Amino acid sequence: MSHVNLLDQPDVRRKLDQCIHCGLCLPACPTYSVLQLEMDSPRGRIALMRAAADGRIGLEGAFQEHIDLCLGCRACETACPSGVQYGLLLETAKVAIGARGEGRGAKSDAAGNGLHRTVIENGAQQPAEGRSSRPSPLAPRPSLQAFGLRELMPHRGRLRLLARAVKLYQQLGLARIARRVLPKLPPALTTMEGMAPPIDLDYLDESRPAPALGLRRGKVAFFTGCVQDALLGGVNRATVRVLQRNGYEVHFPQGQTCCNAAALHSGDADFAQRLARQNIDAFAGDEWVAIINNAGGCGAALKGYDHLLAGDPRYAERARAFVAKVQDISEFLAGHLHNPPTGHVQARVTYVDSCHLRHGQKVSKQPRALLRAIPGVHLVEVAQPDMCCGSAGIYNLVQPEMANQVLDNKLADVRATGAGIIVTANTGCYMQMIYGVKRGGLHATVLHVVELLERSYANAG
Ligand code: SF4
Ligand code: SF4
Repeated sequence: MSHVNLLDQPDVRRKLDQCIHCGLCLPACPTYSVLQLEMDSPRGRIALMRAAADGRIGLEGAFQEHIDLCLGCRACETACPSGVQYGLLLETAKVAIGARGEGRGAKSDAAGNGLHRTVIENGAQQPAEGRSSRPSPLAPRPSLQAFGLRELMPHRGRLRLLARAVKLYQQLGLARIARRVLPKLPPALTTMEGMAPPIDLDYLDESRPAPALGLRRGKVAFFTGCVQDALLGGVNRATVRVLQRNGYEVHFPQGQTCCNAAALHSGDADFAQRLARQNIDAFAGDEWVAIINNAGGCGAALKGYDHLLAGDPRYAERARAFVAKVQDISEFLAGHLHNPPTGHVQARVTYVDSCHLRHGQKVSKQPRALLRAIPGVHLVEVAQPDMCCGSAGIYNLVQPEMANQVLDNKLADVRATGAGIIVTANTGCYMQMIYGVKRGGLHATVLHVVELLERSYANAG
């Protein structure tokens, strides 16, 4: 069977050819740091993509294993002097693998866009060399992943039901029993149990806009997220409250859905485009000062809609207008902090960057500036702020062994700061650090930037 080779498209070739093999990205790569293997470095993965583009290797075996082991953290992009857009290359490789169809829940692109126009299929399968990076035996199976992706994440009601089930599990004390038993079970289950935050079912009232407090400065639209909404409702409430305190009326556009990050990570470009179009429709209108989100992974996905829909004549322009308004809450507040926090919060704090906020959106100074603005906060940096925490979407569930090694490196860094509060800015990182605190026996609380800000406002009375 002969198919068009997606990695051999001219725009992808150009991106691949930008890599000059200098290797400066290698020290920034978490998987290379752990394994010290060229094929698990950015340069090695780009070489594999080039070999697949040439038709010298197939998309299964070694190719898929090394691509699957990549966290997608994009630290290599920040380190690269040649401007290689590794994130887009990885997305293309995943769509190409996904489009093979077998069990990854992927579909080829029906509408046609700049990146994912065709299906790739070529060459013979390559056996994996050396170390195997096969997913954990009890990691979510592809069909389960596809179910979660299509039948759970875009449906807020179903996710909230799941949250209720988790809360019941926590209330019945099963968590304590499970923690005694789970260390003997596969790492994916241990991770899943450990990363569940205390569930707070006090969801936002989205039936009407949240009014501005004090001088009204404009309207913002709030992207609530899917997992964030169901499992970390306190972060959403704090986000809205902080926006209100700074003079913004917060709107909750109906019909919004999951950002599409998980769909892209699993190579399902068709579904990712459907979600993007739905969100663009939901946030239509020009009255918003900004479209605010509070999760680095979601924000990076939302900001990628223009690229994803570049080939869609009905949505390309609307996608560009949408992207122009999307801002992470820290990014927005850095320029719109009309009501600086004055309440004292005496705490030694460290900030764990969200990779998709730091490397994907280039937002790293803003959250730090906000934390330093809180009286009493002593911000202590980790030694390697560029490094991923191992969360990476559902990476910690499908690749738990590698994720735990990456997490342990991060925990050693966090422990050295002596911080009693770990602040982060992404759903996955937040839950990974909750798991990390338990795993590492740290005496620390995990908070989002806005939760610490809100604590300061509350202390001011
Ligand atoms: S995205 Fe992260 S894990 Fe993947 S190659 Fe780049 S630095 Fe390494
Ligand atoms: S730093 Fe950039 S150019 Fe150098 S090897 Fe890595 S991806 Fe290629």
